[in-house]
Amino acid sequence: MEDKNKIHILDTTLRDGSQRADISFSVNDKLQLIERFDDIGIDYVEIGFPASNPKEAELFKKLKDMKFQYSKIVAFGMTRYKNVKVEDDKNIKQLMGSGADAICVVGKSSSLHVEKVIETSLENNLSMIFDSIEYLKKYFPEVIFDAEHFFDGFKENPEYAMKTLKTALEAGADYLCPCDTNGGVLPGEVSEIIDRINKSVKADIGAHFHNDSGCGVANTIIAVQKGVKMVHGTINGYGERCGNADLCQVIPNLEIKLNKKCLKKGSLKHLTALSRFVSETANQVTNPSQPFVGRNAFTHKGGMHVSGVSKLSKTFEHVDPGVVGNTRRILISELSGKKSIILKAKEFGIELENDLKKVSEILNRVQNMEHKGYQFEAADGSFELLVKEVAGVKKRFFKLESFRVLNEKKEDGGMMSEATVKVHIKGKRIIETSEGNGPVNALDRALRKSIEGCYPALSNIKLTDFKVRVLNEKKGTGAVVRVLIESSDGKKNWGTIGVSENIIEASWQALEDSIVYGLMHVGENNDS
Ligand SMILES: [Zn+2]
Repeated sequence: MEDKNKIHILDTTLRDGSQRADISFSVNDKLQLIERFDDIGIDYVEIGFPASNPKEAELFKKLKDMKFQYSKIVAFGMTRYKNVKVEDDKNIKQLMGSGADAICVVGKSSSLHVEKVIETSLENNLSMIFDSIEYLKKYFPEVIFDAEHFFDGFKENPEYAMKTLKTALEAGADYLCPCDTNGGVLPGEVSEIIDRINKSVKADIGAHFHNDSGCGVANTIIAVQKGVKMVHGTINGYGERCGNADLCQVIPNLEIKLNKKCLKKGSLKHLTALSRFVSETANQVTNPSQPFVGRNAFTHKGGMHVSGVSKLSKTFEHVDPGVVGNTRRILISELSGKKSIILKAKEFGIELENDLKKVSEILNRVQNMEHKGYQFEAADGSFELLVKEVAGVKKRFFKLESFRVLNEKKEDGGMMSEATVKVHIKGKRIIETSEGNGPVNALDRALRKSIEGCYPALSNIKLTDFKVRVLNEKKGTGAVVRVLIESSDGKKNWGTIGVSENIIEASWQALEDSIVYGLMHVGENNDS
């Protein structure tokens, strides 16, 4: 029998989350995110409608060949169209071919929306819900019903809203998830309405809250206290308008304070890293004051706070930062930082436990670099190289003498870049020039050309993503930029970083780290 404290988490960062105006995930981004969600043990990962655009279609195709240890892949779709038989419905057909483990079907629960927006009868809307769920349930082990506009609908016409849930249950839905699609409901109302649902249907209930009144997290928590078994949300609360319930707040509150089980056992301590990985992948500035996972969530500045925290941390902290993988930052103690460096170095096979001088040096370098704008959460490759450099085991494959990049604007409007790289390898001086469609591309090509003769394994290392972020926008063109590069050798992915006022210099740093890291991991020897 299932643990009565288990709460099933459905992450919809890739569907609802990507509705945020300034977020766009590539297929590769999405695959990486799904892997991370699987690692941390999110039960359901909702990824969208199988054919809403070519990107989604490609994602579903790739997912068919992938197996995940923990997460179930959920495809999202609507109930059948009002005048079409379910087996002839184009969208339902797409869901059938999705290869997903479960389907989330959204249907209307508000009589106002049924009559005024989709313009059909209340009776027909119930058939649409019933037909779609009953049909999908024949082919998929799990079907989740998203009852759209449920809370507003309930306030207008409670009987009808409840009927939509009952209909979904009769058709075989495994979870009934009332949604606060407009995000305006308040915690007291949620509490009352979920009580009413519990009284009239015996089913596993879920909850899907948007955050327009700023209550997305609070509503989710109160829903769980009222017995809800499934929770929907997004990492960092990304979503349309004001976002969705932030799982980085919902999960730790449920696990730490309500003793619920949400993630894979022992995974809560990876939540902060996940939050930062998602924000880097989404190319979003992290919110330093985000509860639990923000950089400042456990930072103590005031003198009295610092002395209180140093005596007994719970005097000024609601939870221990280590529980969610965050760190306490106070001026007088860097203990937690050192500990995490020792642990991290161990992952790379480097023992630093008895070498606190090196640990301090790494910590100093990291702090100085972070101050300049480096961030290592999505640049694991650069961090490992830094640790190995201090530990004296970083390999050096080539020595740069210089590089030069020229950009040319042509009469026909086109741009062309040309890069020349001079390096020393095994006592030889090598000069190579390459063209590219942009300066970084030209530089990458010239560097590869100059060293691949000595290191043939380089041909397996590919750049898969390149992101640029301006760090202090107010300074305009004099601003500092951060470049993040994602690389892969087909089996392993790694991120590297560069920061500079000059975008080419920042790109070079990330590029050099990417190649050095790759060569070290494919077992090339240190020959320069
Ligand atoms: Zn939603």
